[in-house]
Order: sequence, then structure tokens, then C-alpha cells
Amino acid sequence: MTGRVTVNADLSFVEGLMQHGGADLKTCYQCSTCTVVCPLTPDELPFPRKEMLSAQWGLRDKLVKNMDLWLCHNCNDCTEQCPRGAKPGDVMAALRSQTIEHFSYPAVISRAAKTLNGNAVLFLIPMVLIAVVITLLNIGDGFAFLSAKPIVYANMLSVSIVDMLFVPAGLFAAFNAYKGLSNFIGGLKAQYPPTDGGESLPAAVRGAVKDVLSHIEFKKCGTNKSRNVAHMLMMYGFIGLFITTNAVMILHYLKEFGFDVQETPLPFFHPVKILANVSALAAFSGIYFIVRERVKNSATSVLSLFDWMFIGNMFLVIMTGILCQVFRVSDQANLAFFTYYIHLVMVFYMVAYASQTKFGHIFYRPAALIYARYSGRNKEIIRDL
Ligand code: SF4
Ligand code: SF4
Repeated sequence: MTGRVTVNADLSFVEGLMQHGGADLKTCYQCSTCTVVCPLTPDELPFPRKEMLSAQWGLRDKLVKNMDLWLCHNCNDCTEQCPRGAKPGDVMAALRSQTIEHFSYPAVISRAAKTLNGNAVLFLIPMVLIAVVITLLNIGDGFAFLSAKPIVYANMLSVSIVDMLFVPAGLFAAFNAYKGLSNFIGGLKAQYPPTDGGESLPAAVRGAVKDVLSHIEFKKCGTNKSRNVAHMLMMYGFIGLFITTNAVMILHYLKEFGFDVQETPLPFFHPVKILANVSALAAFSGIYFIVRERVKNSATSVLSLFDWMFIGNMFLVIMTGILCQVFRVSDQANLAFFTYYIHLVMVFYMVAYASQTKFGHIFYRPAALIYARYSGRNKEIIRDL
């Protein structure tokens, strides 16, 4: 026995971290200021200093099963106070994106989502698919939908055809999310066995849902207080758009089956339309505030391509959705149908690759928050770190 401890450092993991947001990781000298100032860390085994150390060593297996990465809400109080400019907030974000890549299925999509060329391919798939379907369906009548009045998007692609494209995309995403999440939760269970201090599963789910809806953790941020409002606007905006998109689909099929309901497209003052427009406005404002804050803080906090693709995709989904309405009402057929085509491409990217892009955090974070309560991490947890 020599008493030596062997560490299996994964240098490619460290390199990946440094490329995707953790560029200053190696300047950390373990002073622990970040851990002291973090408003969200539990007292027992606090973060993010220990994550900085594990990240420097490239301890991939330990880090991808690290629940604490998801208890961090990226407020950047730690980055603000770090005496070495190591940007621990960005490192935590990079670790989350590495976790998504590690568990995502199929991993090739997640790897593609982190590079410009890969993203070009990911966009090309819906661009070609939707363009081919539009061409095949409309070439026979010489693309008559372009001159038909009033402008109706269903003349280009009927609701049933849109569903035939997007329902499989949604099922593909749901299956992949299930595969990735099962492995992720398995990893959490192995690294953080449940303790007696944990909550029951239903109580943990209720508590985590309440935390997410109220944004209680975001509200504890000191440096970046407005992040709470911006993120809330974006989250509720997208929830509203999800509800209204499905409501329109339900109204359409009810009409098809002979029910006496409002025909689509809905008039401007229909409740579903009002909710859709309010939600779009909320999501747009949320994205605007987030980007403004990020640009303002660009000297201290850096966004990776993975982050920008997520923000850019959401921005374009909202913008093209709003412009579709503007061009339709102002009777600009060519612009309206082209914008609708781009809108469909953007929505396809968001839905089909949801579990492999940064959008995946809507699956991974709630899972980790639930498990944190279930395992007792929000109170105390003893384990071998
Ligand atoms: S990240 Fe900065 S504040 Fe945290 S331990 Fe390293 S040097 Fe200290
Ligand atoms: S970004 Fe905020 S929540 Fe995350 S580790 Fe730093 S101080 Fe804590």
C-alpha cells in the first residue's frame, strides 16, 4: 500500500468544457469564495467549488451524475465574486450542457447541436422535408395558395399534414427524452442514494413543480435579479403558446367532426387568439431581457453556441409567429407564406431535437429538482465525493 490515490482524468471532457463555456476553468485556485457567496447551495457539501475541482480533473462520470449542477440557476453571483475570473457560473452551465450531451439519445444530435456545421445539418433536415412536402402538395395547381384570398396558411399545408409532420417529431423527441432521462435518473440514484430525510415521490413532485412555477430559486439571485422576471416571462409565454397551439388543433378537429365551434384561423378577439398573442408578447419580452442582460454582462459571463442556438431558435419561433399574423392581416401573400415556412422549420428544430439541445433542460432540471427533494439533498446528504 503506497497510500496514493489514482484519479482517472478525462482530458477530452475538460477540453469539451473549455470549448463550451468553461474557457477559464483552469484559473481556479480553490479559494471557495464562489461557494460562500452562492445563494442556492445547501450547507452540506456546498457547490460550486467542488464542481470546479472535479471539472479541472475531468471527472466526467462523477460530474454528469452531479445533481447540484441543476440546483444552480445560473445567477452568476459566484462569477461576480471569483478573484481569479474562473467564471464558475459559466462552468456550471457548461457542465449542464455536457450532461445533456452525455445522456442524450441519440448522442450524435446533441454533438451536432454544439457546432455550426452540425446545426446547419439539423436545420437542413426540416428545411428540405417541409419544402418537399409543400412542393408535392401544391405543384399540381401551380401553387394557387399564393394568389388565393384571404390568406389561409392551411391552403399551403393543411392542419392534418402539419400534424403528420409534427406529431412524429414530437414522439421522436418524447422517446429520446425518455431514454436520456432514464439513464440520468439512474446516475443520480447511484451517486445519491435516497436518505431518510427525503420526501415521498408525490410530495417531491408537488414541491418541485411549485418551485419551478413560482421561480422561488431565481428570486434568491443577487447579482442578476432581473433574470427571475425574464425567465418567468419566457417560461409562461411558452406555456401559453403550447396551450393555444393545441387548442387551435382541437378546435380544427372538432370542426372536422361536425361540432359547432369557431372555424380557424381564429378572429383577433377570440379568447384563444388573445392568449396566444399575450403569450407571444411575454415570451418575446423574456427573450429580449435575457439577451440584453447577457450582452451587458458579456465581459464577465460568456454564452456558448449551445446557449445561443437555444435563444436564437426561440426568438425566431416567436418572431416568425408574430410576423405570420402581421403579413396575413396586411395581405402580403409571398412574405406571409415564406415566413410561415421558416416558422415551421424553427418549430420543427425546437420540437424534434428538444432533448438534445439546451431545450433539454426542461426535462433534466425538473427531474433533478424532484430527485433532490426525494433523496433529501435539500436537507442533508452524506455521500462519497
Ligand atoms: S471558482 Fe473562483 S471563487 Fe471559486 S474556488 Fe475557484 S478561484 Fe475561488
Ligand atoms: S451561478 Fe449562482 S446558483 Fe450557480 S453556483 Fe454560481 S452563485 Fe450558485
